[in-house]
Amino acid sequence: DIVDPAAQSDQELQFEGALRPSRLEEFIGQEKVRSQLTLLLSAASLENRTPDHILLAGPPGLGKTTLAMIVAEESRSPLRMSSGPAIQHAGDLAAVLSALTPGEVLFIDEIHRMARPAEEMLYLAMEDFRIDIMVGKGPGATTVPLELAPFTLVGATTRSGLLPNPLRDRFGFTANLEFYSPDELQAVVRRSSRVLNIDADEQALSEIAKRSRGTPRIANRLLRRVRDYSLVHGGHATLSNAQAALELYDVDDWGLDRLDRQVLEILIGRFGGGPVGLGTLSVSVGEEAETIESVVEPFLVRQGFIVRSPRGRMATPMAWAHLGRDAPGLNDL
Ligand code: ADP
Repeated sequence: DIVDPAAQSDQELQFEGALRPSRLEEFIGQEKVRSQLTLLLSAASLENRTPDHILLAGPPGLGKTTLAMIVAEESRSPLRMSSGPAIQHAGDLAAVLSALTPGEVLFIDEIHRMARPAEEMLYLAMEDFRIDIMVGKGPGATTVPLELAPFTLVGATTRSGLLPNPLRDRFGFTANLEFYSPDELQAVVRRSSRVLNIDADEQALSEIAKRSRGTPRIANRLLRRVRDYSLVHGGHATLSNAQAALELYDVDDWGLDRLDRQVLEILIGRFGGGPVGLGTLSVSVGEEAETIESVVEPFLVRQGFIVRSPRGRMATPMAWAHLGRDAPGLNDL
């Protein structure tokens, strides 16, 4: 699905590999996170120790995996990649941890989806570079401590609020990644078009940037669709080719995609603008609550289309206008 920042094909993963900046100074935007990370890595290198554990929080496609790779690259350490869903037993985690070499960077994507028993093992590992292995069963069972090589954990999560406090507290540094501005996204696709050898007009890049939901992954994806369109219809990536391609893929002037519009339509058409609870909304749209909450909502809230109230989500007058309807006046409420 072109508009889902979380869905990824193998082909896209390959593309993304080619488009990932490998150094902090090539990483576009997120100025604050970048300078905080620079400081953290430089201090560790001066003291000749592993950098503190790092938690990266933010919606999909904003550069969490890229930053994890950069942390490894900048500290000249190997990187091992895993993910929460792949760690469903304490044993899965023990296998990963015991195989780490000194200084290695361990990246756990979607760390909030790790199983509970593994989480508890991770607390000790993060704090003391040690785990306790259970040996035997029943009354004779004992635990044997296992020393680990010092490592840096980089965890990624779509929302840091999904993590239990004891886990969150064990990260020395939490970076909250923000959506990118159109200018920053334009810089991202400018760089990508150079890497991929795509001849694109600056106006085309600007159009792509404006419609990419503040998300580099989507910007890069739209860039490739614009390239395809230009290839098939002759010529290079001009503004009009970009507009035509984006229209074909259902991305509107505001960068709202099919799912965003569907959420607004249900909120307004079926529930008179809300308030509507997350559960009701996700059932009506036929999409997982987590996707609505961590992908759709943050963007719609930031753009001013919906607000969150204690009683649920509400459409703003801007959302009504966007769907071409009149918002109910105060008298109608
Ligand atoms: P996440 O792990 O948060 O889902 P990724 O790190 O996989 O996101 O990034 C998705 C794509 O966007 C990658 O191709 C990456 O190169 C690109 N990207 C993300 N952030 C930046 C950035 N700040 N500068 C340049 N490219 C970026």
